[in-house]
Amino acid sequence: MPPSLFSRLFGSGPSEFKLQINTPDLTVTAQAKESLLLAALNQGIAFPYNCRVGGCGECKCRLVSGKVKELTDKSYLLSAEELKDNYILACQSLPKSDVVIEVTLREGAVSHPMVETSARIAELQPLTHDILHVRMQTEQPLAYTAGQYAELVVPDEAGTAAGKGRSYSFATAHDATRPNTVDFFIRKVPGGAFTEWLFAKAAVGQWLTLRGPYGDFCLRPSANPIVCIAGGSGLAPIKALLEQAIRDKQANRPLVILFGARTQQDLYGLDAIDQIRRNWTGRFVFEPILSNEADGSLWKGRRGLITDHVTAILGERLPDHHAYMCGPPPMIDSCVEVFTQAGMPSTQIFFDKFLDSGHAAHPTP
Ligand SMILES: Cc1cc2nc3c(=O)[nH]c(=O)nc-3n(C[C@H](O)[C@H](O)[C@H](O)COP(=O)(O)OP(=O)(O)OC[C@H]3O[C@@H](n4cnc5c(N)ncnc54)[C@H](O)[C@@H]3O)c2cc1C
Repeated sequence: MPPSLFSRLFGSGPSEFKLQINTPDLTVTAQAKESLLLAALNQGIAFPYNCRVGGCGECKCRLVSGKVKELTDKSYLLSAEELKDNYILACQSLPKSDVVIEVTLREGAVSHPMVETSARIAELQPLTHDILHVRMQTEQPLAYTAGQYAELVVPDEAGTAAGKGRSYSFATAHDATRPNTVDFFIRKVPGGAFTEWLFAKAAVGQWLTLRGPYGDFCLRPSANPIVCIAGGSGLAPIKALLEQAIRDKQANRPLVILFGARTQQDLYGLDAIDQIRRNWTGRFVFEPILSNEADGSLWKGRRGLITDHVTAILGERLPDHHAYMCGPPPMIDSCVEVFTQAGMPSTQIFFDKFLDSGHAAHPTP
């Protein structure tokens, strides 16, 4: 019998190892074919991470002993010092022996059991010409914290690598009365394998596989004012997070929402934002900002990039704000730069970059 793809790639050694995280009392079993990150998360450990595709560097940890197989080149995400100190990316490292690593675990991190379940498309509703509201019914109930995301594993016909998922943030706060319903706002990426398939071929009744929840983007308790910045489909987790804040009676903090879109046709979710406004007890400001609206159109609102306006909108109190941002990585990078230069501490800046497969680290040769 020919050797399986797995044994050709990874040899036919033991199928599981011990993974020690910081101290011997935190030792878990790691399968040879799963990343150190997944081994930790599957066993409820609050490991830091974000993208899980080697693109953000959040899951970096120090390899103290043992051997790993690294799937991608980490050199452009880690500093020279970190490389010298034997840092690795947990999401891109498979164990090849028992392994000991050191990492600062997330404090107070949300931890819901991760599930892998079949999920049926229950509703497809266009929100704009290129954003769909996708409602799914999962076979198994799913709990999550607003701000987290799930991975949709798409049918082979979508042309993605078999079993390879795409990440989508939950667009509503979790509702315990309907634990099998989840909502997503999904933007069509021209040429994108999954989204082109979703927009052209998917229909109500289609079954996909859903894994999750993932991520640690969530509202942190505090009395400080909040600035939320959403770009395009990045409105999904921001909306969920604010709905959750209302439910958790945290809606008395001053709130500014900046929603970046290209033109008036790209604005959506305005009813949901109005619903948040009506239930928000603190000061509430909503500013849509259009980057590509035709000159001379009837649009009376702000034009340009969010970074052109944020300092004027937030005023002197800018550094007091806690910033929550979701959407395209360049938008988030430039906002982080503006906030940091204005004196906002990095401990007050939270974001989920909508990284795609193209941002993943490069495969090691
Ligand atoms: C934590 C997280 C949460 C996310 N949440 C959402 C969400 O709620 N809604 C949503 O619409 N998307 C979200 N994304 C992005 C999403 O996971 C996919 O990357 C996106 O839908 C493209 O998938 P695809 O298969 O169509 O494109 P692919 O086949 O993966 O990509 C095809 C080509 O398009 C480029 N590309 C892919 N995505 C983008 C993009 N967003 N902008 C510009 N170029 C791109 C790729 O680099 C590649 O060259 C999220 C990503 C992350 C990491």
